[in-house]
Amino acid sequence: MNKQKLSIWLLAAAVPLIALAPLPDFWIAQLNYIGLYALVCLGLVLLTGVGGLTSFGQAAFVGIGAYTTAWLTLNTGMSPWLTLFVGLGLTAASALLVGFITLRMSGHYLPLATIAWGLALYYLMGNLDALGKYDGLLGLKSLSIPWMNGSIDIGQGRLFFVLTWAILIAGAVALLNLLDSRPGRAIRSLKGGSQMAEAMGISTFRYKVTIFVIAALFASVAGWLLAHFQRTVNPSAFGLKMGIEYLFMAVIGGVGHVWGAIVGAALIKLLDDYLQVALPALIGTSGSYEVIVFGVAMVLVLKYLPDGLWSVVARKLPKAPRHVDWQNAAELPARSKPAMGDVVLKVDKIRKQFGGLVAVNDISFDIGAGQIVGLIGPNGAGKSTTFNLITGVLSKTSGQVLFRGQDISALPSRDISRQGMARTFQHVKMIPDMTVLENVALGAYTRGSSGVVSSMLRTNKSEEQRMMKEAQRQLERIGMGAYLHEQAGNLAMGPQRLMEIARALCCDPALLLLDEPAAGLRHKEKQGLAAVLRQLQGEGMSILLVEHDMDLVMDVCDHLVVMEFGTLLTRGTPAEVQANPAVRAAYLGTEH
Ligand code: ADP
Ligand code: MG
Repeated sequence: MNKQKLSIWLLAAAVPLIALAPLPDFWIAQLNYIGLYALVCLGLVLLTGVGGLTSFGQAAFVGIGAYTTAWLTLNTGMSPWLTLFVGLGLTAASALLVGFITLRMSGHYLPLATIAWGLALYYLMGNLDALGKYDGLLGLKSLSIPWMNGSIDIGQGRLFFVLTWAILIAGAVALLNLLDSRPGRAIRSLKGGSQMAEAMGISTFRYKVTIFVIAALFASVAGWLLAHFQRTVNPSAFGLKMGIEYLFMAVIGGVGHVWGAIVGAALIKLLDDYLQVALPALIGTSGSYEVIVFGVAMVLVLKYLPDGLWSVVARKLPKAPRHVDWQNAAELPARSKPAMGDVVLKVDKIRKQFGGLVAVNDISFDIGAGQIVGLIGPNGAGKSTTFNLITGVLSKTSGQVLFRGQDISALPSRDISRQGMARTFQHVKMIPDMTVLENVALGAYTRGSSGVVSSMLRTNKSEEQRMMKEAQRQLERIGMGAYLHEQAGNLAMGPQRLMEIARALCCDPALLLLDEPAAGLRHKEKQGLAAVLRQLQGEGMSILLVEHDMDLVMDVCDHLVVMEFGTLLTRGTPAEVQANPAVRAAYLGTEH
């Protein structure tokens, strides 16, 4: 992330040099278009690249920004610096509306909905008399800055270039700041499905709407600039074709990288101009053949370079470990903890049916403060489903769960996690391209409060340092201190599982639910895990443990709950359970 920032600052230094260089006006104009397009693509980097939500409708948001300033400056004489904010307001309102309707859809519905949205706005712009129908609005003024008694005209040349690229660079820096923050980590967790993010207390829907709005706002600013650059607006610049082209730019450049937006915008703009002239000459008849070339190029890029062209460059750049600046940070606020002997979790006759299959059949048990309860049973017994019922990932067919005396039966998993119940997953869920430290910091999400704006402006620094310190502390506690800056995706299975436990601990839970934490761990790692569990227990933590490794279970658990085919077989101390013939028959398969 630091390297990316450095490269953006280098670009910032280059902008005035380019503006002063004796470049032909044609190239300055090209750079202005590239800057405008890159601004739209920057939004797509966040929305599609990071958030995994595909939108073909960005051109429509560009249109809202452009038409707002065009209509207002022409009809009311309002200053374009004010119309920018009116445009942003209108864009935010329409993006919120479209987002609320479409972002609950999954799979291919969202891209389809954005196509419909793009088309609808295109025809609206083309049919409104007030907006000049398909001819659009003509005769806009260029931007100017009041200065002394007169004003400086920004025009369409070098000053406009400086303005556009300054906005682009500010946008890129804000985006990089955002991605490296509490809300940024939440946004980065969207792509991996919602289960893990929600279990960390993150409202995935809220963040989907947020990035949809942010991407639309980037597009709207680009539209405002475009209107005053071209001094005319008409629907053709904001139709579906442009919507697709913006996505082309982002995908070909590399939709996951801020630089990909700039590279993609430059490449497609230059190639577009070239092909529009070259292809008709080659083929002999006129037509938009460049669209075909782009289509083929996009398929090839998606097949052979799914991370876009910039990823090739990014791979060559050395990766610097994160600068450690949090040694002196204060600790994050801690939750109140239950007193020894309190009942932390009361599971009362919970039941789950999947169609005709009763996966969990009226299971009841309690966990006291400082107790380690093992939930065991053969594969398919219903252990993970029980976990999901307690943590709110699945809804119960019937039954009740009380957590520290409160009924949490109807709460969604993110609210349950906010109350101090943390979990790991049977199949590790993480963000592979984030470091171990950042993945673990995600667990502290509910203990912070910084939002999107403060993260973009970097006023969240002290909270960020506190989160990093907590993440490091939890990793060191579990013996993972050597892996802080490692890419999580590069870890072996054992360390991945330990990382998940550290992430759960980062939430400062009163109850920890571990689903097969020892699977894939080496003998030594298992011993380490047992030591950590005992240490946590000593600190008053309650733990529900699903585990197949019987040595570990018998070693650390105070109490066992044995399930078979969804029903409770027996419960008791490890010694009692081991001595129970029914358990031996069902679970260990030793006798019949
Ligand atoms: P365990 O974790 O003890 O191995 P699970 O809780 O994963 O068992 O599964 C219990 C039973 O419920 C199994 O028969 C499994 O096939 C079934 N099951 C689990 N999840 C679902 C689901 N989402 N839909 C239908 N059946 C499911
Ligand atoms: Mg399971």
